Amino acid sequence: MKITFIGTRGYIDAKSRRHRRHSSAIISYRSKRVMIDCGLDWRKKVWKVNPDSIVITHGHPDHAFGLKDGSPCPVYATEPSWEIMKRYPIPAPYRYLVKERKPFKLYGITFEAFSVLHSLIAPAVGYRISGGRVLIFYVPDLVYINERYKALKDVQIYIGDGATITNPIIRLSGPNRDVPIGHTPIRTQLTWCKKEKVPRAIFTHCGSKIVEGDERVLGAKIRAMAKERGVEVEIAYDGMELFLR
Ligand SMILES: [Zn+2]
Ligand SMILES: [Zn+2]
Repeated sequence: MKITFIGTRGYIDAKSRRHRRHSSAIISYRSKRVMIDCGLDWRKKVWKVNPDSIVITHGHPDHAFGLKDGSPCPVYATEPSWEIMKRYPIPAPYRYLVKERKPFKLYGITFEAFSVLHSLIAPAVGYRISGGRVLIFYVPDLVYINERYKALKDVQIYIGDGATITNPIIRLSGPNRDVPIGHTPIRTQLTWCKKEKVPRAIFTHCGSKIVEGDERVLGAKIRAMAKERGVEVEIAYDGMELFLR
């Protein structure tokens, strides 16, 4: 399996050479390519990417609005994400419904959606993805994973939310102002990796601290936090390729 991080930028104004486009990854396996997320930066460009299928984590602009003009291939998304994309010119035979905790197979790659807390307007999932002996978890935006133990069990690489390094971007929402929404820091996600014995973490969906900052300095800081927890860490950049077997 190969993972190509074609975009690693979060929903921010800043962009850089390393983080130019909204976070998206291509999972290549047995000569097929599945694109995860298709945000605004991929509008029109998705036809050039030309994946075999697209899997969506949630309906926020930086994850789904690239499909506003339609899709070159089948799209897999949960009910609330389809609700947001209902008027998009994606033909019915290209619309596939993803159900939480119901694994589905695309070209030999298994995807299983786990609900994560992130937004009430655009409920999100993370995907447990396996092909051959490779097992990863991909979740670009989250406050927390509802069934974290099951989601991360035996996972080799956690690919997580790089919106913030140490300060939570979380506010309380909902009618009773008691539902946390937003983004959990990298530091907390590294602690989850330690707890669930995930040896390696990669962060995508980079926030302005990373995109506008000095990545050598920040990288060293993040590596130190990871080392304390016995986890290997990398910050993904646009075009980064990962060969797994
Ligand atoms: Zn996002
Ligand atoms: Zn989001």
